Amino acid sequence: VANALLLVPPFLKIAYGPLLGPAMLVGAALGGGHDVQVNDLNAAWIRERLEVTSEVRRFVGDHDRPAALTNMHREFVANAHLHVTRDTHEAVFTAAKRLADGAFGAWVCEKLDCGSRPPDVVGVSVMYRDQVEPALAMTMIARRRWPGALVVWGGAHVTALRDEIAGDGRYGGDGLIERFVFGYAEQTWRAMLDAVAHREPFPSEAIRAGDGRWLRAVGDLSVVPVFHDLPSYAKASLTLPVQSSRGCTYGACAYCTYPNIEGDPCELPWSAIDPVIELAIEHGAALSFKDSLVEGKRLEAFAERIGGRVQWSACTKLDARLPGRLSHLAVGGCKTLEIGLETLDLAAQGLIKKRQSEATWLAFLDAAAAAGVAVIANYITGLPGIDRGDEIQSRAAAERALMARRPALVSKLEHNTFQLERLAPMAREPARFGLHITERSPWSSVLKSTTRPRLIQIRKRA
Ligand code: SF4
Repeated sequence: VANALLLVPPFLKIAYGPLLGPAMLVGAALGGGHDVQVNDLNAAWIRERLEVTSEVRRFVGDHDRPAALTNMHREFVANAHLHVTRDTHEAVFTAAKRLADGAFGAWVCEKLDCGSRPPDVVGVSVMYRDQVEPALAMTMIARRRWPGALVVWGGAHVTALRDEIAGDGRYGGDGLIERFVFGYAEQTWRAMLDAVAHREPFPSEAIRAGDGRWLRAVGDLSVVPVFHDLPSYAKASLTLPVQSSRGCTYGACAYCTYPNIEGDPCELPWSAIDPVIELAIEHGAALSFKDSLVEGKRLEAFAERIGGRVQWSACTKLDARLPGRLSHLAVGGCKTLEIGLETLDLAAQGLIKKRQSEATWLAFLDAAAAAGVAVIANYITGLPGIDRGDEIQSRAAAERALMARRPALVSKLEHNTFQLERLAPMAREPARFGLHITERSPWSSVLKSTTRPRLIQIRKRA
């Protein structure tokens, strides 16, 4: 039997419940007969600092967070100097060492001071760039404390860097991080723990930095997540993450990395989903579906299955039949839908390969207002080669449509400025999209670029 510890570094803006990825790895490890603990230092950091407020909660799921959390994130970034651009590995590791040797490191040491048996394996989950220096600092501390433990990194941000990690040994930090896994990894994680327990070779998909090639980790759709610390969350606001599918069945959006990160689309069996639904009912918790895209029929299946016994949220895409489904979804407990609207500008829609009709958008908002389903509309501006004036106008139109339906419609336009992500189709064929890549920084999944005349023509539809 192997003894493993999973670490989650700050900062993720999640206040009301545990994370799904570590819970899946716990489920996988326990299924293999191993011991595993999660030390979610992100949750611990937030819990120690977040004051209970009487703030009205307008949304369920990822956007259900108190305003104070955003300020706390800003403060964390400033104090840890995470806003500084670091263009070399040396700069990143030096900053991490400074964190490890300072007040943050002292806090981490205190938090790791639990459990009597040293772990055989330390897994570190890294979802976003902001976690890199804190994760490296935590790894340095774990290394000092348990020099014999195998350290393995995984998570969405690590997956986004898979080509760079495979091609550059410096990501391993001179033996600091021994293995990396890319993508969903329940089966790979279990196989690693088996290998440690039986002193056998590691699975080939657990690579070393600079190995020269990467392999996608092996997931296990049948795993039921095991949440280790539910009592430490406030019962009234507890939200459980759940997943019903991986990958994206649409998979065409040119700016999006999900299809590449998550792999081919597939559905999880209900035998892995139902226990989480039941757990949420038992705890009176809300459910937040983490699928990158839930199609209409699957949303209806959730509504049937959950039957309004708990509130839930999911992310979907506009289609002509969605407005007609909303009353049914609301009866089934759906409280918040996140829509990847991205843009109403037709030229921009052509560029990103995501056509969505304004008439459907408006019909969807009317149906959501009538059904009492809150809406988060994701919107991107700053797309290359798109007229900025047109973008401003179309964003204003999207906002007006939301405002005009208040107070019946609870909504938010979640605005993001375009970023070129390494694994997005636009980064793989930049010239086609009028982009020229000018800079790549280590540990960053975002590339710097300038615009050029496009190789593909995009015309506005009549
Ligand atoms: S933006 Fe959404 S719909 Fe488009 S490819 Fe990504 S996950 Fe799929």
